Amino acid sequence: MNIFYYDIAISLPVRQCFTYKSVIKIKKGSRVIVPFGKKTLVGIVVRKISQPSSFNKAGVIKEIISASEKFTCFDKSIFNTILWASEYYHHPIGEVFFSFMPTILRNQTNKIIEPTKEISNYVLNIPDKNFKLTGEQDANLNKLKKIKNFNPSLIYGVTGSGKTEIYLRLAENIIKKGKSILILVPEINLIPQLEARFKKRFAGDIGVYHSRMTPNKRFKVWLRSKFGEIQIVIGTRSSVLMPLKDLGAIIVDEEHDQSYKQSEGFRFSGRDLAIKRAQLEDIPIFLGSATPSLQTLKLVREKKYKKFDLLRRVDGKKPPKLIPLDITNSPMVGGIALQTMSIIGEAIKKGEQVLIFINRRGFAPLYECNACGWVASCSACESNLVFHKSKNRLICHKCESAFAINEKCPDCGSHDIHTYGNGTERVEEVLKNAFTKVPIIRVDYDSTRLKGSIEAIYEKIQSSNEAILVGTQMLSKGHDFPKVTLCVILNADNGLISPEINALEKVSQQLIQVSGRAGRNNNLAKVIIQTRYPDDINLKQIKTGDYRLISDQCLKVNKELSMPPYSSICIVRAISPKIKGSLDFLNRASLTLSNKRGISVVGPLPSIPFKIKGNTRNHLVIKSPTKTYLNRVLKFLTEEFDRWPETKKVKWSYDIDPYDMN
Ligand code: ADP
Ligand code: ZN
Ligand code: ZN
Repeated sequence: MNIFYYDIAISLPVRQCFTYKSVIKIKKGSRVIVPFGKKTLVGIVVRKISQPSSFNKAGVIKEIISASEKFTCFDKSIFNTILWASEYYHHPIGEVFFSFMPTILRNQTNKIIEPTKEISNYVLNIPDKNFKLTGEQDANLNKLKKIKNFNPSLIYGVTGSGKTEIYLRLAENIIKKGKSILILVPEINLIPQLEARFKKRFAGDIGVYHSRMTPNKRFKVWLRSKFGEIQIVIGTRSSVLMPLKDLGAIIVDEEHDQSYKQSEGFRFSGRDLAIKRAQLEDIPIFLGSATPSLQTLKLVREKKYKKFDLLRRVDGKKPPKLIPLDITNSPMVGGIALQTMSIIGEAIKKGEQVLIFINRRGFAPLYECNACGWVASCSACESNLVFHKSKNRLICHKCESAFAINEKCPDCGSHDIHTYGNGTERVEEVLKNAFTKVPIIRVDYDSTRLKGSIEAIYEKIQSSNEAILVGTQMLSKGHDFPKVTLCVILNADNGLISPEINALEKVSQQLIQVSGRAGRNNNLAKVIIQTRYPDDINLKQIKTGDYRLISDQCLKVNKELSMPPYSSICIVRAISPKIKGSLDFLNRASLTLSNKRGISVVGPLPSIPFKIKGNTRNHLVIKSPTKTYLNRVLKFLTEEFDRWPETKKVKWSYDIDPYDMN
């Protein structure tokens, strides 16, 4: 009898695979059940090996308990994308496999991988005859449709230039060929609007996949796409490896968006993984944005990506004017200057909608004692508590713990405790008092958490005439609000004076995206930027609203400073109950890298916030001239870590291509 040996990945935070034997042959990417210690676990077959390479404690190779599935869980190109991701991000292979597996398959259940037999046939609803593509749309679409293999394309179109219409027609083209298409968006809240537009165009089920769906629903969409029962899937970064049958193309909408980056656990970029997948499948990938990432723009310059420009809005309307408003000496209510208030009033009188952008949820970010200066902070994190009036609680935005309101100061006993600063809830309240008859619609994490709430909110916005929308960055992305003629940015200064690298890139993307929500039907649309730094040099650039100029400037500066995308960065994060633990570890890491040519190291530095859930946090920033060299250095470093006693006292992780430096 033949015996086969396999390396199996298991969902554990370990880098290696475990060897098992089997009397039957099993395909790579299959799901198997294996004994592990006293437990039985689900594992994924990574490779067949000729000689067993690792032994369990007893020195014998255990046998795979069950490998009964007819269909493999991960087909070749997805399997290879996962292997690549595990190497590129230096993340334990089992965890990478399991993060792209429907939850239901991660455990031993009686659910198996088989067709659901609910096949969706797509019928095209041709847009009405009056709907003619603009010249720009038409010319670009013709070229885009001809792209066959892996040839990344940037669809660089100002907000309202009809990018989504191009996505719809590209999808149509793919479906006609009998293939399938995956469309990624950065946030769950962007799905309903896009789904509605696809449903209008295609009779047939559109698959939707994101983390707020039930495991059963997700499993079903996963199965249906795997067996070609649905051919269109719209999802967030967690759907980047959806097993669509005969995948014909991937679209990444708002490719610059930071939400593509997972910020904890397996810190991957959904956009970058999509690009890798498209490369391995040798299919076209379309990256769309009005404010592309510097990384993408650099690759366009190097002729590795092709660029397709949409310079004009579909409606021919001019982009809104960006107007900085100096609030240094202005009376303020809830973060809104008096002058701003009257501009809002004028728009409302005309029956128009106003969008107020403030990047902070809750009522007030500070709860402070006037007598002694005590500030309410989380007991587990080094983070100030945010007062949420709707819940009558103080909430930590780092760990989501809720605390009762202190009647008196715990330090000095004074009753003179007040809230300071403004969040979406306070702005909503101030506006409700000022405009009693106008609908005030708040859009933030708290108001959109319940199922169906986001759909209801958009419905209300579309059906209202004059209205004021108050929201966080959630409101600034991708949406089409035809009635909005005025945007107000309450506190741009946080972004403008930020010490972060690439601050200009980020803040200009954000402001230009917000302003893109205004004036889709109006030539006179305005964006008011409240600021205490009207002469700020970044603001002067942003005021032009010309992202092409701004990004050229950013690329030039970053090249001079050899900052990303002209170098590669990894942050080594270490957390430990005592500060000494993570400092010893990071100091040794820094010392170890000191003789590596071309590598520069900064730190250890305290992370912000310094404490979360009782643990102290520090980090080290490693910069390398290239990605491949960084990868080699990190491989070496990881092997070093395995030998150090210092490593035992910390939880460490790599953040490769970090979005923010903290
Ligand atoms: P973007 O995705 O670039 O912001 P959209 O595709 O959402 O732009 O287009 C903005 C609006 O213009 C949408 O309401 C869309 O239906 C409409 N639109 C798109 N293309 C055309 C066209 N060729 N003619 C008329 N309206 C269009
Ligand atoms: Zn006090
Ligand atoms: Zn906390």
